[in-house]
Amino acid sequence: MIHVHTLILGGGLTGLSTAYHLQKIGRTDYLLAERESVCGGLCKSVYKDGFTFDYAGHLLHLHTPYGKKLVRMLLKANLLRQERRAWIYTNNARVPFPFQANLFALPPDVRQACVDGLVKAAKAPPNTAPKNFKEWCINAFGKGVYHAFMRPYNTKLWGRAPEEMTADWCGPFVPLPAPDEIIKSAHKPPRKKFGYNNYFYYPQTGGCQALVNALAKRVTNLRLNSPVSHISLRKKTAVINGETVSFDYLVNTLALPAFLKLVTDEPALTRAAEKLTVQPVTVYNLAVRGAGKQPFSWIYCPDDKDPFFRVGMQSSFSPNNAPESCRAYYVELSGKIPQMPAAEKRIWNALLQKGIIDTNDEKLFSFWQFLPFAYAVYDKNRAKTVQQTLARLEKRGCFCAGRYGKWEYSFMETSLLQGLETAKKLV
Ligand SMILES: Cc1cc2nc3c(=O)[nH]c(=O)nc-3n(C[C@H](O)[C@H](O)[C@H](O)COP(=O)(O)OP(=O)(O)OC[C@H]3O[C@@H](n4cnc5c(N)ncnc54)[C@H](O)[C@@H]3O)c2cc1C
Repeated sequence: MIHVHTLILGGGLTGLSTAYHLQKIGRTDYLLAERESVCGGLCKSVYKDGFTFDYAGHLLHLHTPYGKKLVRMLLKANLLRQERRAWIYTNNARVPFPFQANLFALPPDVRQACVDGLVKAAKAPPNTAPKNFKEWCINAFGKGVYHAFMRPYNTKLWGRAPEEMTADWCGPFVPLPAPDEIIKSAHKPPRKKFGYNNYFYYPQTGGCQALVNALAKRVTNLRLNSPVSHISLRKKTAVINGETVSFDYLVNTLALPAFLKLVTDEPALTRAAEKLTVQPVTVYNLAVRGAGKQPFSWIYCPDDKDPFFRVGMQSSFSPNNAPESCRAYYVELSGKIPQMPAAEKRIWNALLQKGIIDTNDEKLFSFWQFLPFAYAVYDKNRAKTVQQTLARLEKRGCFCAGRYGKWEYSFMETSLLQGLETAKKLV
């Protein structure tokens, strides 16, 4: 039996960052086990016929000095900084993102309903403890914005109504202009840029995988093709590829519900896994030949008639993501969508109708990806279940990290930072 001080499960960005920082601190008696033959998890890239695709858009939103420093150290000159070019296509209008700060672009009746709703919300007594995401939205933006964008878009993305969700994920993700900024935006475009993603970074070559590879080459004790199948937290052992590994500490970066089901000797944890809800995403990737289309970063599509909730232009993130005179898109559909010609036809028709592609474009190839654990759902069970579960695991020497390990909604930068935090806890 092999024994290590720390066993890290999962070679995505979080697992790699934990290993890298452990090594930096001088702790080299760890093992990082990754199921796949390539590390990176959701930050992997797919290379085909001169195109680079990620697993849906994977853009670097760097908000902390250390996050920026680490990424710059890893990617050096291979890093582009880009301005966001994002819109919402709804009600036959093209509204700049974020919707709530660009009411000028809406048809007059929808615009008026948004202004009226906000004025009414501003007069109502402040709701300091919104019970759910619907109440939070109406409090912040009024009923007009809620019905015109927040409700349809979020219902589509999360696969459930806003009243079935809490609002504790919104902080970093939903831009919150002041009421007077929203009202002013009904008359003219705002000068100010809103949101965490008004600019972002992206590797010049190699897609998101370039970041993963730069980190992975600094990690020595990485074992690929090594799925973890059973874990005993009491005996502190795990079965990896049929071999038993014992550890002093365990770091989990696998999706929390999947990880809990691997633990064989804590029935309470298996039950906790049943309380965690996930919203998967299906991605349709498309490579076309054809020039002359204006680049965009991504477009939100809240309307029911569109089968997808967002379309991104992969070839806009770097000129190296597609050969000359070619374009690449990723189309995100909420849930597990049967990857059938009928679904592809609906997507094509909607892309044509929006002018994202046109009939002169030559389709080169397309492929699907399925992301089973894309979004941890913030329903009424999540906060308490996650808090109790993580505390119970820590008592047994197991630390969870990353968007999926902590069962939260967070960025790649969070993965890098949580890797550092976890390494510090372990020494
Ligand atoms: C649709 C979508 C778009 C996103 N876009 C962005 C974006 O633009 N910007 C951004 O900052 N973030 C984005 N994210 C978030 C980003 O993907 C995550 O924050 C990040 O990938 C988390 O990395 P991780 O290492 O924690 O998890 P993962 O990437 O899921 O890695 C977990 C690893 O564990 C491995 N594994 C699983 N089971 C086992 C097992 N039994 N044994 C061993 N190994 C196993 C997997 O193969 C994988 O490599 C997006 C997420 C989604 C779903």
